Amino acid sequence: MHIPFCKSKCGYCDFYSRCDLSKAERYVDALLLQFDAWKRLLADRSIDSVYIGGGTPTVIGDILLLRVIRGIFDRFCIESGAEFTIEANPGTVDQNSLDAYRKAGVNRISFGVQSANDALLCRIGRIHNYNQARQAILWAKEAGFDNLSADLMYALPDQSKEDLLLSIERLSDLPLSHISMYGLKVEENTPFGRDPDLALPDEEEQCAMYLEGVEMLAQRGFTQYEISNFAKDGKVSRHNLRYWKREEYIGFGCAAHSFYEGRRFFVPRSLEQFLNASEYAFPSALYTVEELSLKDVREEQILLPLRTAYGVSKKGLLLLVDEEKRSMVEGYLSSLERGGYAAMRDENLFLTPRGMLLSNTIISDLLCYLDE
Ligand code: SF4
Repeated sequence: MHIPFCKSKCGYCDFYSRCDLSKAERYVDALLLQFDAWKRLLADRSIDSVYIGGGTPTVIGDILLLRVIRGIFDRFCIESGAEFTIEANPGTVDQNSLDAYRKAGVNRISFGVQSANDALLCRIGRIHNYNQARQAILWAKEAGFDNLSADLMYALPDQSKEDLLLSIERLSDLPLSHISMYGLKVEENTPFGRDPDLALPDEEEQCAMYLEGVEMLAQRGFTQYEISNFAKDGKVSRHNLRYWKREEYIGFGCAAHSFYEGRRFFVPRSLEQFLNASEYAFPSALYTVEELSLKDVREEQILLPLRTAYGVSKKGLLLLVDEEKRSMVEGYLSSLERGGYAAMRDENLFLTPRGMLLSNTIISDLLCYLDE
């Protein structure tokens, strides 16, 4: 579920969100109408993962957010052991709100911490400081959450490798079971994208940040299971894995994407269009459907699992390639293994952290063999 509101916009953010909260209540009403429309379609499905993200779900306040949470439980069949996550900005929660979310059935929180360095947090436009983030995580633990995640960013303007490692050290001392570590991607239509003087760490420094970050997370008990995701005690995010395993999901709200019964579709990035929709059921004019060709499906079958630490079946991958090109692809895969970019486990080829750094190139090389 996408909640398209934030307190203020971060310098790097390309997600669809608004800072004017005046339409938040109408938005929740519309979201509940969309749930109603899907209730019939999903009547015989049980749901094992719910994720409320954004934007900043917690910025709309407890009353509205609790309406969304209850609205989900009232309309859909949520399995008893389901993962139920909300994203939270550390500057928008307190002990009471976290207690209320836990009691309402939320069992996982993903905090947008990003860094333990206050100057950096200010530089990227976050509304919180590290102490608030630390406090929010401790409050969440106190409220009974034992599955807590934090987002961390690297390759930020003026960030050093030491900054990143110190952030990992500080975060891993907190009661977190999951950390996502994302590299900054500068998008055109953001303040960072328009800033000609943006001073980013150079490519070599960015690679060192990622590789040393991965190593430190491993030393601190966080096992890598995807390019940017690390979990302790097997607490991998069911929601995240669903994307990489090409399993179905329904996105609710504006700008939300879905994959359902072999079709990918999305709702436009427009709050007004969502509020004024005359029909929330699928299919209707609210949704844009992306038709998947056989080639798209094959690409997804390679691209998505290769992002994970489980990798892709080598045999299955070779079967996708025409016979005369198979030895060429085998040679390419062997060169990845020799170079330390890939390895084999249980018949599956997976990328090492060095390979994950180059995943886009490796995946597009493989797709070239398929396309030719
Ligand atoms: S809080 Fe999250 S969604 Fe909102 S502007 Fe910042 S990065 Fe974007």
